[in-house]
Amino acid sequence: AKEAGRGGFCFYAGEMNAQAHRRLDLENGLRRALAEGQLEVHYQPQVSLADGRVSGVEALVRWRHPRDGMIGPAEFIPIAEETGLIVPLGEHVLRTACKQLADWDRRGLVVPRLAVNLSARQFRQPDLADRVCRILDEIGLSSSRLELEITESTVMRDADDSVETLRRLRARGISVAIDDFGTGYSSLSQLKRLPIDTLKIDRSFIEGIPGSAEDVAIVGAIAAMARSLGLKLVAEGVEHPAQRDFLRTVECEEAQGWLFGRPLPADVFVCNHASGRAV
Ligand code: C2E
Ligand code: CA
Ligand code: CA
Ligand code: CA
Repeated sequence: AKEAGRGGFCFYAGEMNAQAHRRLDLENGLRRALAEGQLEVHYQPQVSLADGRVSGVEALVRWRHPRDGMIGPAEFIPIAEETGLIVPLGEHVLRTACKQLADWDRRGLVVPRLAVNLSARQFRQPDLADRVCRILDEIGLSSSRLELEITESTVMRDADDSVETLRRLRARGISVAIDDFGTGYSSLSQLKRLPIDTLKIDRSFIEGIPGSAEDVAIVGAIAAMARSLGLKLVAEGVEHPAQRDFLRTVECEEAQGWLFGRPLPADVFVCNHASGRAV
């Protein structure tokens, strides 16, 4: 690389090196972050479109890096997934969020449901249901309060195994939502077979509402389908009142997005949503 001399190539090699370095840095840092409590859970409200009440919260992890500040999950979840660190990380998020919900319960704050993201690797664990229930028991939280969010692509990868895992979770009283729905090419016949409770329409379809005729048609069709399959529908990424109003016309039950509240640390979340109304 040195002989190449001319700027272009050397610059490129330097760039690659910086990227690889950053990755290694994150990987090592992530282990420490888990051990030293640098991972925080933020909470975003999910609201009922009929009455504007908070129907649940989604737990979203963040990394408060001692040197680099706050790092978002898009940057470190893929690394955690590749290295297997996602399993202890995911359980840390689940335990932290369950403890938070139990604490809100004790203080009389009404948060009916807690939604927690589950990665592909966690979902593939044969003893997943036992592991989740052990955490719920440890904290004394009813399984009926928990909804696990699993992406459409994760669930569809091994549809037969997935059906079995979903059955086991639901046999324990845990709800399941298909996250990022509409991005994973599942067919209606596959969807019909899945023992699930909720569909979360991906943000990319909500973005174009109400301007894009295609997005209006797609979201309308998904809403009709969810209704006919008896599934609850949650729209994510709702930022504008016009999107909320459209979602009401197609009888989408719940919505989540900046219009109702950004993901916030637990104490700030309480200040903003203590009244129970978000719309
Ligand atoms: P997701 O599960 O689809 O979560 C929704 C993402 O959309 C969150 O990004 C949230 O902050 C963002 N969002 C919410 N409302 C709006 C809105 O109105 N407009 C826009 N533009 N964005 C909105 P975040 O927190 O950066 O998380 C990104 C992804 O990282 C999540 O996507 C999820 O796939 C993953 N993730 C986050 N926490 C965890 C976790 O504890 N475990 C696992 N396995 N994955 C997680
Ligand atoms: Ca999610
Ligand atoms: Ca999502
Ligand atoms: Ca998404």
